[in-house]
Amino acid sequence: VLTIGLFGGTFDPFHNGHLALAETIYSQLQLKEIHLIPARQPLLREPPIATPEQRVQMAELVAEDYSWLKVADLEIQRNGPSYTIDTVKTLRQTMPKAALCFIMSADQFVQFDRWHLWGKIPDYVHLIVATRPGYPLILNTSLQTLVEQRQTDQQELLHKQTAGLIFFQAIPPLAISGTTIRAKLEVGEDIQDLVPAKVWEYIYKEELYTK
Ligand code: ATP
Repeated sequence: VLTIGLFGGTFDPFHNGHLALAETIYSQLQLKEIHLIPARQPLLREPPIATPEQRVQMAELVAEDYSWLKVADLEIQRNGPSYTIDTVKTLRQTMPKAALCFIMSADQFVQFDRWHLWGKIPDYVHLIVATRPGYPLILNTSLQTLVEQRQTDQQELLHKQTAGLIFFQAIPPLAISGTTIRAKLEVGEDIQDLVPAKVWEYIYKEELYTK
């Protein structure tokens, strides 16, 4: 069974926090590859500044340097809000036999029950929740029930079953976010240490995030 990671995000821009998260999960879970899925119109947050095409290009520049990273632009191609349920249904059809691991950080998982048709999402994929040591997960009753029903700490099961499990993976904390990067660029601060080199060049070439 091929085990594939799916990593959705706004990626406005793609930064070293995203890369570190992907690298840790890729190696710890022994995934075959990780598909980056930029959202056209993310829900439950402010709309992105860079265009969908620019955000795909930044992800593609990063993927050039990592053989196991791919970019899936299906949410960009689709009109309207980027519901994860639609994405995982489509990817399940294209990869019927793969174990699919949908990666999200703990700060997203705590509001997972606000996602469109969230209860159906584990029918199509496993959920890999990246936790940071020292940040306890506080879950409401619906999410607690979901975890009780589906959590495993046996990594092998993620490869044997193709969907339906929840697995918590601790990752080293890296204090980087798209918001801080955009704020720094707006006031003319350098962000070279916060993004991959090719993304840094792209941001300056396209004059992104400056007023
Ligand atoms: P913004 O500040 O614009 O919301 P973001 O980088 O937090 O930026 P996304 O691009 O949507 O937001 O992030 C995609 C996923 O990566 C989310 O699950 C997010 O929580 C996670 N993520 C972002 N930054 C980090 C980081 N430094 N460490 C671990 N996970 C991160």
